[in-house]
Amino acid sequence: MKLNLQDTFNKELPSDPIIENSRRQVSNACYSYVKPKKTKEPKLLHSSAEVQNLLGLTKEDAASDEFLQVFTGNKVFKEMQPYAMCYGGHQFGNWAGQLGDGRAINLGEVEHNNNSWALQLKGAGPTPYSRTADGLAVLRSSIREYLCSEAMFHLGVPTTRALSLSLSGDDVLRDILYNGNPAYEKGAIVTRVAPSFLRFGNYEIFAAREEITTLKTLIDYTINHFYKHLGKPSKQVYLDFFKEVADKTLDMIIHWQRVGFVHGVMNTDNMSILGLSIDYGPYGWLEGYDYNWTPNTTDRQNKRYRYGNQANMGLWNLLKLANAIYPLIEETAPLESVLESYKTDFEKKYHKMMCSKIGLENNFDTDGQLINELENTLHLTETDMTIFFRNLASISINDSSEAAYKKISDAFYDIPKTKENTKTKWLAWIESYLNRLKKETQNDSERKKQMNLVNPKYVLRNYMAQLAIDAADNSDYSLIDQFYQLLKKPYDEQPEFEKWFAKRPEWAKNKVGCSMLSCSS
Ligand code: AMP
Ligand code: MG
Repeated sequence: MKLNLQDTFNKELPSDPIIENSRRQVSNACYSYVKPKKTKEPKLLHSSAEVQNLLGLTKEDAASDEFLQVFTGNKVFKEMQPYAMCYGGHQFGNWAGQLGDGRAINLGEVEHNNNSWALQLKGAGPTPYSRTADGLAVLRSSIREYLCSEAMFHLGVPTTRALSLSLSGDDVLRDILYNGNPAYEKGAIVTRVAPSFLRFGNYEIFAAREEITTLKTLIDYTINHFYKHLGKPSKQVYLDFFKEVADKTLDMIIHWQRVGFVHGVMNTDNMSILGLSIDYGPYGWLEGYDYNWTPNTTDRQNKRYRYGNQANMGLWNLLKLANAIYPLIEETAPLESVLESYKTDFEKKYHKMMCSKIGLENNFDTDGQLINELENTLHLTETDMTIFFRNLASISINDSSEAAYKKISDAFYDIPKTKENTKTKWLAWIESYLNRLKKETQNDSERKKQMNLVNPKYVLRNYMAQLAIDAADNSDYSLIDQFYQLLKKPYDEQPEFEKWFAKRPEWAKNKVGCSMLSCSS
């Protein structure tokens, strides 16, 4: 196996002079060198052929023992200088100080076809940033990260990727519900791949510690490598950089809203500087369309990171990033103006995205109202988001309101209990919708085709991930591959997989891992 390693992060940025792998505060350094922990009995469970390709690896490479050893941290090529990054973050609204890669170890950067990819092992042992934890990851959270990052990519959502999922062979102790019932689980390692894993928190830590030289070095590095088109770093370029990060962050969140993805932990240490979805922890997918839904049990009280609040939280996080880069700009007005434009851009982009979901191409003044009413009506009874939008596409412009209602009401969770009043409201909405559609192209099949390109038929439903996990706990890894294949073409009909185009089953309603997820991973 040959990897074209061309490191820049650990070549161009200041490192922690201490080599010993002890937990500590690290100052004036972007990372610490650290070796992955050897594992007892590693076993490859899955590897993404697409990501192998990105890195210039072949199927044969992926089948080799060397691949397994390298991507579980057991073999480190002599050209590799693995490291853990130093970052801080605001967690649930509060400054948490130094966090850092507590269980992620970067192997280096691979260049292939003029693209550069950072490779990172997640769950490969402790680092100086592990604080009180063990640096390991369990199988359940690793399956969730592996499957979801690839699924998100195929949905067209900016995301980090995943090369491999392996068992470590070691057991890991976790208290899933934080209720004093720890138990051993299978340990696992995911190899993540992205142009960079830099987060807002990487900049915040230096601003918080007033390590301005290091802050500038890191921002200049980021611009030179990932925002090169902006030009040579200068005060104006820093502002342009901030504007572009804001745009990318917003675009990513609009995609989340489009597909019904709820990240669950939008802390600033989980916000990528490249606008990629990163750190798949207690995330979830909307079943019923519900602004207030969050999968994260730790956030049940305040619901800070609920579906309907993700764009606001993106803005909040950008404000923290603005504060972090302020020392290089020393003027608040231009930073504030970027944040202001995020709000107006959100209105426009969100509107455009929702129009595309309901098959409207042209813009009419009244569409805002139509969309508002749709969202209100969707909240009247638990309505499966994915099924609703998919079925909406089968409505014909010549349907009666009753006929159209019949098509969408399949998405209701409790059809027999749906109130008369709800039906009346739906019929009213459908009537305005059908009238509105008459002002578009009159071609049902073309509209359906366009709608099906933005409304996925298949997403990694919460209960599906849990089924894959339950099977894997019993050493059956076949569902991982089945879902991986299914989710490669989320917008295609794939009739052979029809059974996954289904509402959440009753058993999953209140099951841990399905509707309730904890950060314990
Ligand atoms: P997260 O909530 O997963 O984004 O993690 C927040 C911080 O805790 C990051 O610095 C992680 O690296 C760290 N962390 C999470 N889980 C572990 C673990 N098992 N061992 C060490 N550090 C961890
Ligand atoms: Mg994180």
